[in-house]
Amino acid sequence: MSAAGPAAPASPAHGAGPAPAPGPASGLPAPAALPRVPAERAQEYRRRGWWLPERVDRLALRRAAERPEAVAVVAPGGRLTYRQLADAVAGAARRLARLGVRRGDRVLVQLPNDVELVVLPLALMRLGAHPVMAHPALRRYELAHVVEATAPVAMAVQRRVGRFDHAALARHLAADCPSLRLLLVADRAGGGAPEQDTHDLVALCRPEPGEGPLPELGPPQDDEPAVMLLSSGTTGRPKAIARAHEGYGYMIRASAEWAALSADTVYLAVMPGAHGFVLNCPGILGTLAFGGRVVLASADDPDGALDLVEREGVTHCALVPALVDQWVAAARRRGRGPSTLRVVQVGGARPEARLVTEAMKALGCTVQQCYGMSEGLLVFTALDDPEGVVTGTQGRPASPGDELRVVDESGAPVPPGTTGELLTRGPYTVPGYYNAPGADERSFTADGFYRTGDVVRLLPSGGLVVEGRLGDVINRGGEKISPLDLEALVIDHPAVRAAAAVAVPHPVLGQTVCLFAVPLDPAAPPSLLELRRHLQDRGLATFKLPERLEIVDTIPYVGIGKVDRVALRRAATEAGAPD
Ligand code: AMP
Repeated sequence: MSAAGPAAPASPAHGAGPAPAPGPASGLPAPAALPRVPAERAQEYRRRGWWLPERVDRLALRRAAERPEAVAVVAPGGRLTYRQLADAVAGAARRLARLGVRRGDRVLVQLPNDVELVVLPLALMRLGAHPVMAHPALRRYELAHVVEATAPVAMAVQRRVGRFDHAALARHLAADCPSLRLLLVADRAGGGAPEQDTHDLVALCRPEPGEGPLPELGPPQDDEPAVMLLSSGTTGRPKAIARAHEGYGYMIRASAEWAALSADTVYLAVMPGAHGFVLNCPGILGTLAFGGRVVLASADDPDGALDLVEREGVTHCALVPALVDQWVAAARRRGRGPSTLRVVQVGGARPEARLVTEAMKALGCTVQQCYGMSEGLLVFTALDDPEGVVTGTQGRPASPGDELRVVDESGAPVPPGTTGELLTRGPYTVPGYYNAPGADERSFTADGFYRTGDVVRLLPSGGLVVEGRLGDVINRGGEKISPLDLEALVIDHPAVRAAAAVAVPHPVLGQTVCLFAVPLDPAAPPSLLELRRHLQDRGLATFKLPERLEIVDTIPYVGIGKVDRVALRRAATEAGAPD
């Protein structure tokens, strides 16, 4: 990969306004890479008390001194009290500093839900370094792009997740990236000494107090990132989203209020904690900020999850609709819902109204609809909203500072109540991507509004209803798949002349991928299995693999060479059951 520094900005959102910028003197990356909120708006956010001079690692541990013996984290790798968590974070920060991790460095974090997923990002923030949070399902194809954009100094993985060797992938990425010189590997299952070129992440995150002082960083600098989330890849491979301390901290505090978090909250994270929905809406970070307890597990088994809810007294959880469906079925099989659950947040994709009603009944809790995006905006239903609002809308913006515009194809506002694309900006929505100027031009307006690509309706009540996507991104159980991306890889297969991927409805996941392929030799068309293998060999994440294949003579087009996806979706749906 190229070791060149971040490219110059193209969007007016970058570098606008006179606010002092992070730069070489502060040890932070050059301002060109960091999109900046214009000074006027930043001042207003501070004046309104939304932005506070508080680092997010401080926010997450602000209750630790008051409740040192309260349990903060319950995970497969063990339990930590708040005292142990604070010691683990400080200890890991010191060890990282000794390994040469500095303020402003990026560290790619691709970890499953376990102790290190909580400790490492907080330790990096404590040093002023930026964790780049990657979903464990991402593979070489997606991560190579992230590594190129963020030039991390380190990558943290669990050696194996299932049968996949993440340490091998990390080495592969490091071979092409001169900045990536530290491999931090958690290997509880292996148990032996770390391999020579790696550092033991479990030991690095152990709560051992008293290893010397840490530098005091003081309040965050303007636009200084706390974490980098990854975009869901709707317009290609994932882009890094630098979430600045002030706005990110505000969002965590605001969403904690919407979800009524307190020191009594027991929050269960079953979906990947690298995703904003689980990390910060209010999620893991919000629960810690309010002195609650975070329980980390995987989503594989709904019965196991319901047992865990009972065992740990879980009060809050965030789920995509496909998982809600599984939990409802499991609760019905058991003849009872969990007794402690108060709030299930449903988001990532739009749930059917029927599912929301069933969840309230079967799980015996309040459902909170959540719509949002890693770029910022969050929309919630209130816990005391009438049932019609909770089943029929995705909610209202989390902050009075959120600005929403619904526009038509020309960018003009649509009449109230009609559908159009949602544009948004506000105190916790980023004004641009990190080091992706071309993408910024497409995704942000000149006055700093993020083009969500979502087609929505704003009701007179202020409620928002999501109607679909402008583009044709496939939403498989909350995981977004770009058809363009997939097609580009399929076309490389020697037996394929042309290809197009579309969503087909699926009763549980919402949507799955149907691939249309034109074979080079009609007498020897490729099989679905062959194409899936080909995509896996190219390093594509497993959840993006097509589940159906239709061999066709031609791909239909409309306009100037645009694939006619409407016709293909119709054809795929009419063609019926999966292979
Ligand atoms: P991500 O950045 O991965 O959170 O993906 C954000 C996108 O997921 C949004 O722009 C929407 O397209 C979709 N999304 C998230 N929540 C919902 C929801 N409640 N209803 C419909 N779509 C949603």
